[in-house]
Amino acid sequence: MNYPVDRTGKRYGSLVARFPQRNYTPGQGVLWYCLCDCGRWVVRRITRRMKSCGCGRVHHRKQTRNQELLTLADAGTGYAELSTRFGIAISRVWCIVQRERKRRRLEKESPA
Ligand SMILES: [Zn+2]
Repeated sequence: MNYPVDRTGKRYGSLVARFPQRNYTPGQGVLWYCLCDCGRWVVRRITRRMKSCGCGRVHHRKQTRNQELLTLADAGTGYAELSTRFGIAISRVWCIVQRERKRRRLEKESPA
């Protein structure tokens, strides 16, 4: 079977694309099985912004991720979907959203 782009072995941050999902819908992009440096497998669509499975190797990028998470949550994305998308537990998603909202409120109240 031919895939639009062969990304086997390509590295995206901590993730390395290993093999594509066998059944894919043309035009919807191929899902790839990716192995993270931490040893976790994730299945996702390859994007340039892909960094890791969501593990601790991205500590310094956490703030960016949290902002993205909050933006999506504010846009109405469900916690379950956020959990899947960011590779973190739903309870964690909830905590992050609560914390970031509080932080944002505080920042508004007391401009630096
Ligand atoms: Zn990882």
